[in-house]
Amino acid sequence: MAILARNLFIFFLFTIFSGGCYILWTLEHRLPERNYSEFRYCLTHHDISEMTFTGNRVVVSHRAAENSSNPGFTYVTTVPNPEELITELKDKNIRIIFNQDRSAFILQSLTLLYGAILVLVIVLSLSKMRKDEEKSRFATDKLILPNDGHKIVTFKDVAGIPEAMEELREIVLFLVNPDQFNQVGATIPKGVLLQGPPGTGKTLLARAIAGEAGVPFYSFSGSDFVEMFVGVGASRVRDLFKEAKKNAPCIVFIDEIDAVGGSRSGGGSASGSDERSQTLNALLVEMDGFSSTDNIIVLAATNRPDILDPALRRPGRFDRQINILPPDMNGRKKILQIYTSKIELASELDMHEIAQMCPGFTGADIANLVNEAALMAARGGKKTVDQTDFELARDRILMGVERKGLVMTEKERNILAYHEAGHAIIAKSLPETDPLHKITIIPRGRALGQTQQLALFDRHAYSYTYLKNKITILMGGRAAEEIAFNQRSTGAQGDILQATEIATNMICKWGMSEHLGPQAFMFDNSGFLDSASQRLSMADETAKAIDQEIKAILASSYEEAKTILNQKIDLLKNLTEILIQVETLDNEEFEIILNCSNKMKAEASSSEELDCDICPACQGCSNSKIRESIS
Ligand code: ADP
Ligand code: MG
Ligand code: ZN
Repeated sequence: MAILARNLFIFFLFTIFSGGCYILWTLEHRLPERNYSEFRYCLTHHDISEMTFTGNRVVVSHRAAENSSNPGFTYVTTVPNPEELITELKDKNIRIIFNQDRSAFILQSLTLLYGAILVLVIVLSLSKMRKDEEKSRFATDKLILPNDGHKIVTFKDVAGIPEAMEELREIVLFLVNPDQFNQVGATIPKGVLLQGPPGTGKTLLARAIAGEAGVPFYSFSGSDFVEMFVGVGASRVRDLFKEAKKNAPCIVFIDEIDAVGGSRSGGGSASGSDERSQTLNALLVEMDGFSSTDNIIVLAATNRPDILDPALRRPGRFDRQINILPPDMNGRKKILQIYTSKIELASELDMHEIAQMCPGFTGADIANLVNEAALMAARGGKKTVDQTDFELARDRILMGVERKGLVMTEKERNILAYHEAGHAIIAKSLPETDPLHKITIIPRGRALGQTQQLALFDRHAYSYTYLKNKITILMGGRAAEEIAFNQRSTGAQGDILQATEIATNMICKWGMSEHLGPQAFMFDNSGFLDSASQRLSMADETAKAIDQEIKAILASSYEEAKTILNQKIDLLKNLTEILIQVETLDNEEFEIILNCSNKMKAEASSSEELDCDICPACQGCSNSKIRESIS
């Protein structure tokens, strides 16, 4: 309202001023007036050179007399009857000029003009007022004040990322108690960048800070700044920091900062990137603009640190970078506890095993897993969620929905069963491998069958043996198919791809080749999302040698797989037949079959026939567990 009043006031001042000027001007330039009879006198006695008619008013100009010092003079008079006068003037040598009477017209247009200006002033002021309101709302809308009921998320809701939490807690301490740090002369960091893969809890952590810090908290997303119009983002950034300074000490959080902070180089001249780089510039300027005594901390989150503009990481801007990675086993257990506390659990649930089941899961994945498990249980009409629900939920998340409708021929199922049995037997036979968890030939998502292994613990470094054995396990599928049917199928596509990838990394990244030595031939562009690797440039012979080494690893693994399976051909056949019947076996059941197979061998040598109709190939099995699952 103030703006409107101010602008109207200015407008009226202007009107009065311009009116005054006009009056003064006319006063200055007003010609002297004479009445009609004086004019008539002049007409007969003086030498009039020119008469300008504007309606009734006539401007009369006298010619200067040649012999006198009296200059020509001009005055105005009003003529009662101009037409008559004009006929009378005809034979006198006077120049007559007719002017149209425009005064009314001018008056009208002036009024219109002033009216228009008035309307314009009002409209502009109103729109400016609305914009200003929006601007301040842009900042205040996103403001979370401490203790105003927004405190929904706290540190208790976050788990599995203890280092990041610790570091952020410390930074909040700076804000709440700056003197302690200023005394020693330490400067408080201005910006903190949370970086990590999606779903690891960056946004959650920031929201927890809002709940815990006890200072005002502005929460934005990078895309809030990006509008269609160039310059909007930059001005929003400036407004934001103006507001923030008013409310200091406070925290400004910009989520997904890559939306504005993407690298400026390489962008085309499209207006979109123009707008982005302007916004980014404004952000940089603002971050340089406040000092650490302003007590503002800018928190930002991104899952694309690789595309961030390097200028953002310069000291004095986001000088602290906190990596947030997917949780380890313990972390997963803690996150599981947070989410399972909200659902009804069966009492015999083994959290440790569930945490083991999902290596590499992020916090968001785990939240999803728990919810899927609860859905599974509800769909099954259960009152509580149990272990199998979690397993089913996990399979569903990892591999997709069971494809019950998929029709496979007998032959295809046979091949599939051999394939999975091959994986499983190799996994059991080799040392330093992850324990077997489950074998299934139920198609899910894109995978036809699955042999799952569970890591007992998170591995941080992989030994040569582990990797080599992993490749051999992967080759087990194809090897079994070849042994049983003497043919190759496309079912091994995924296995071969994965095996090649591991072998390539062993040679090119991890320096595991005897001949080539500990040298890297590949670079990791370590973004979190697409860690696309590229081979470095190298001599042709080196490239050839690398290819040979990779080939050697893959070939020897394949041979090894075939050798093992050929040795255990009975077990392979046995396991396959059972798989075809029961479709899914867990580790325990697999162990039993393995034992039976061994027993069978022993008993075959003692040539004593045993009668058993459960486990078709193994004649000695009396295990009730398999009996149950077959029937
Ligand atoms: P990001 O911002 O890193 O992509 P979010 O913070 O948005 O991920 O996480 C999405 C959801 O996943 C959260 O709302 C929360 O439910 C869950 N989540 C993620 N990480 C954690 C964690 N460390 N502890 C608890 N829950 C988590
Ligand atoms: Mg996020
Ligand atoms: Zn396979």
